[in-house]
Amino acid sequence: MNLKELLHKESFTREEIISLLKLQKGEEIRELINRADEVRREYCGEEVHLRGIIEFSNYCTEDCLYCGLRAGNLKLQRYRMSPEEIIETAKQISNLGIFTIVLQSGEDSYYDKDLIAYIIYSIKQYSDVAITLSIGEREFDEYRIWKLAGADRYLLKHETANPKLYSIYHNKQKLEDRIKHLEFLKSLGYQIGSGNIVGLPMQTEEDIADDILLCSKLDLDMAAFGPFIPAPNTPYRRRKAGNVMLTLKTMAVARIVLKNVHIPATTALATIDEAGRIKGLTSGANVIMPDFTPMKYRQYYEIYPNRNTIKDDPSAVKALLTMQLESIGRKISSGKGDSLKLIFGNDKISHYPY
Ligand code: SAH
Repeated sequence: MNLKELLHKESFTREEIISLLKLQKGEEIRELINRADEVRREYCGEEVHLRGIIEFSNYCTEDCLYCGLRAGNLKLQRYRMSPEEIIETAKQISNLGIFTIVLQSGEDSYYDKDLIAYIIYSIKQYSDVAITLSIGEREFDEYRIWKLAGADRYLLKHETANPKLYSIYHNKQKLEDRIKHLEFLKSLGYQIGSGNIVGLPMQTEEDIADDILLCSKLDLDMAAFGPFIPAPNTPYRRRKAGNVMLTLKTMAVARIVLKNVHIPATTALATIDEAGRIKGLTSGANVIMPDFTPMKYRQYYEIYPNRNTIKDDPSAVKALLTMQLESIGRKISSGKGDSLKLIFGNDKISHYPY
């Protein structure tokens, strides 16, 4: 089978995915990326969904070897936003016409079941937005209450689908638990997001293929693939950063294999490559997650250094992104950007009856 035929297949074996990830010739990589762009257009259209992130706490009880927020990083100044600050920031985001709020933090049980429920419920009182939680692994009954309080989506990256590597990176925690959490969240009716980090120490292209296959098995609504960036004061501070091209190839292969999922152009990609956001959006991505954490806290949410967030006044963020998107013929979506599976089933966008 030649490359063109391979790229147009409906379903893919593990070996085929690995061979696509291993493409090296510039011309072949271009063909892969063009095909991913085509599949993205077919399933997602030209609209780019914005998800406004609020990183409300950098306290964390975990000790992930790659993450700057790890409990063992005693040099990081820690902060917590008050519920009122979080609710107010969410209001500002929705006033800008951004209708997904992502609440992200380290694993911080200070925000207990009731406090998170209160924050979700209050945001929903003021604004017609979708709420995504990205606060790590919590108790199953907490997920249930938060769904009742109004949460719509949950983002919990599996980070790596290789169980051995998973337990090394995460202090003996188990991949199978992470997967159980994602499956339970899905059974509660959450739209679920997961994904990996590309270029973690010891990771191979075979592992990345398994990441994409796991995303497929979990039937995700969003799949995120961002490059590893070494963070100071972590065991992996001197390791090599993930490679931009491998990240783009991963996103492109994921788009071709997974088809009707949301895929973000990550902040990590924009951090290791100035043009990363645009490169991501033309390699299969259809989502951007701009950071709206108040400036006085943002510098301390240091999962990795020099995060390339848009530092302009929040009101300018949308105008700037609109301009960047226009340059590649894309536009900002005016909707909430719900799961493509919810709206279109397994159909392509062109089959949607307008
Ligand atoms: N505590 C939450 C949120 C973690 S931070 C949770 O466990 O889900 C959000 C994401 O940042 C992580 O899921 C991880 O994929 C990414 N991340 C952390 N450290 C990173 C690093 N050094 N380089 C690239 N991405 C990193």
